[in-house]
Amino acid sequence: MILRDTFLEINLDALTHNISEMKKMVGAEVAVMAVIKADAYSTGAAEVVETLMENGADFLGVAILIEGLEIRKKYKNYPILVMGYTSNECLEKAIENDLRITVFSEEQAKLISEISIKENIITKIHIKYDTGLHRLGFSDNEESLEAIERISKLRNIELEGIFSHFALNSKEKDRIQFEKFTEAIKILDIKGVTFKYKHMCDGISTIERPEYRLNMVRPGAPLYGIKTFSEGDFDIKQVMTFKTRISQIHEIKKGETVGYMEGWTAEKDSLIGTLQFGYADGYPRKMQGGAFVTIKDKKVQIVGFLCMDQCMVDLTEVPLAKVGDEVIIFGDGKNNTMTTKDIAIAANTGQNDIITRIGRRTPRIYKKNNQIIKSRYYLLD
Ligand SMILES: *Cc1c(COP(=O)(O)O)cnc(C)c1O
Repeated sequence: MILRDTFLEINLDALTHNISEMKKMVGAEVAVMAVIKADAYSTGAAEVVETLMENGADFLGVAILIEGLEIRKKYKNYPILVMGYTSNECLEKAIENDLRITVFSEEQAKLISEISIKENIITKIHIKYDTGLHRLGFSDNEESLEAIERISKLRNIELEGIFSHFALNSKEKDRIQFEKFTEAIKILDIKGVTFKYKHMCDGISTIERPEYRLNMVRPGAPLYGIKTFSEGDFDIKQVMTFKTRISQIHEIKKGETVGYMEGWTAEKDSLIGTLQFGYADGYPRKMQGGAFVTIKDKKVQIVGFLCMDQCMVDLTEVPLAKVGDEVIIFGDGKNNTMTTKDIAIAANTGQNDIITRIGRRTPRIYKKNNQIIKSRYYLLD
């Protein structure tokens, strides 16, 4: 029994396929840091990291401290990098939990060193180097390189990695960023400052720009079947299918309206289906060009305004539809299903935005060999 009609189905075989294809593509010399931020792009980080680590991932990347702590609670040994900012007051927590910290200030490195000496731990850190995104990182200049050199001499700190991030503005600008990064690494190397891992590529650049992989890559979206890249031939499989069921069917007369504020008026006698998801489940409320779901392999339109928890669809062209029938909100695009890309385009946003909005009240249902093997109910944790 699934305790809600609306749920996100996660195909662990597809996830296994994607991570192992990723590892195969980059080769044994390049470490794969599977990015599992935002609850592994809504697939449920704590439930999927094992599949990732057992099928090709060497490392895990999270955006913020508590995402790392969530995984650490369950898995003691997985190497985890907190790729974003960790505040000074939280450093101790990160260190005690064996999380790699991203460092872009000498002051913070000194604090990490002090705490690590006190606790008698060697803390591994990754230096963040800004090459043009201007989000986080040491500025690209001589003073920064000197500061990094001084950091390398601090006690109880191991400079395990150095990384940067592409702005993905254009091929030419990416190349300039990459050259700045490798030049900085070269200068540091001459100073005797070396790193086990050097990394710059996110998912898109890992696939599209193999020459920038260095010895570690940080793919996120492609692992979860989100195809945001446009070049390269990475064989990707759909991981997530967002499903619900029909809860009621109304026959309405020409001229009657559906939903709040007469959001839709029937131009002829119509069949209206009610579905159990709304904007509180992350579905965009504003969809230019119409929102569709798929019932019995037919695309049907959501009519009227989306409610917080429900919405209505025009079933007139699917007269055989009945209460309890499965509805695909998004899937792999086959059999007339909407993809996350279709929804993102209609909502004038990106695919990651669409999937990361799926909230806590949507159960995650995990399938392997077409069998449900586990589920996650955040509200019942
Ligand atoms: C999110 C993120 C990634 C992964 O990006 P995708 O586009 O999902 O592949 C990699 N590196 C950093 C620093 C990130 O924040």
